Amino acid sequence: MENHRQVIIIGSGPAGWTAAIYAARAGLKPLVITGLSVGGQMTITGDVENYPGFAQPVNGPALMGDMEAQAVACGAEIEYDIINDVDFSARPFTLVGDAATWTADAVIIATGATARWLGVEGESKFHGNGVSACATCDGPFFKGQTVAVIGGGNTAAEEAIHLAGLCKKVYLIHRRDELKAEKILCERISRLDNVEIIWNSKLDSIHGDQTVTHVKVVSTQGNNEVKELSVNGVFVAIGHDPATAFLQGKIATDSAGYILIEPGRTKTNVEGVFAAGDVADPHYRQAVTSAAMGCMAALDAEKWLRSFC
Ligand code: FAD
Ligand code: NAP
Repeated sequence: MENHRQVIIIGSGPAGWTAAIYAARAGLKPLVITGLSVGGQMTITGDVENYPGFAQPVNGPALMGDMEAQAVACGAEIEYDIINDVDFSARPFTLVGDAATWTADAVIIATGATARWLGVEGESKFHGNGVSACATCDGPFFKGQTVAVIGGGNTAAEEAIHLAGLCKKVYLIHRRDELKAEKILCERISRLDNVEIIWNSKLDSIHGDQTVTHVKVVSTQGNNEVKELSVNGVFVAIGHDPATAFLQGKIATDSAGYILIEPGRTKTNVEGVFAAGDVADPHYRQAVTSAAMGCMAALDAEKWLRSFC
């Protein structure tokens, strides 16, 4: 059948391209369905300093272009489509895209996750140039400077702790009077001299010229009191949304929508469907961990397919 493949990979970020490289080299002739964002999240960042193999920072879109070229060189096929619906109840599995309907013996889901943004003034203007959703990725650009972290969950707490090791001062801005983060992280924060929590406050706006110079913060206590804080960077840490809306009811996810996989593997609750990268990883969400999971998913899919031979 023209639209049938042994393996279809949904998503073209580090997880998708790495899965494609491994599956192609295993002779599985994978098809990668790219989605709207060819190359994934790394295409909206500039210098990447923490992807191994590059002594100098590598440009995000260039890195993803090379991963795509490597996947194609290994024999992967590419389709520029978006999957809107799936049928995992019968094999071969069916994937319904905007342009075509596909069937596959095995499916690797690598659709990623996206950071939630606040939608405040200045946020999109300084996005990637003072506003970030990843302290591990962008923290080193603010060494010795002052930054603000927005949020009160585990991510915000971990971002604040990480940044405290790099920055002169970290403001943690939270809309309530207690953090949602685990006790151990709260205790760690309370021991850090250079972290100041701005309680009962929300970010109102981000200001600057070429770069961020200050933010305005408004009280959530009803008096609309506005405070100005001098900062060089803003880290928004109010949660991520995994791209699993089109899989609702078709595969097991946690309450936040992350695909549940067998610990240490990439198997989902549907036999023959595997998941890799940010879409199945609420904890690390890094290019290198996504690439590693892509590798694992291709190996898991290969082993599963070979079990029928
Ligand atoms: P993604 O990169 O999110 O790719 C998901 C793919 O799925 C996309 O191609 C998308 O088009 C596709 N897709 C989604 N839905 C569908 C659908 N319905 N049908 C078909 N395709 C679909 N990490 C680092 O390690 N170092 C860094 O310096 C770094 N910097 C970052 C900077 C920014 C601004 C951001 C946002 C993230 C950064 N990260 C960094 C995190 C890193 O980009 C992610 O962890 C990584 O891209 C996740 O890879 P992934 O393959 O799981 O998913
Ligand atoms: P989260 O737990 O949903 O927390 C989001 C935080 O952002 C909350 O404090 C919330 O405030 C705040 N927030 C949400 N929308 C906001 C808005 N519009 N304006 C201002 N503040 C807003 O998200 P997360 O911290 O990213 O964690 C996601 C999941 O990953 C959780 O299950 C978490 O435990 C897990 N995680 C675990 C670890 C770890 O185990 N070390 C590390 C990171 C993440 P409220 O508190 O008022 O709701």
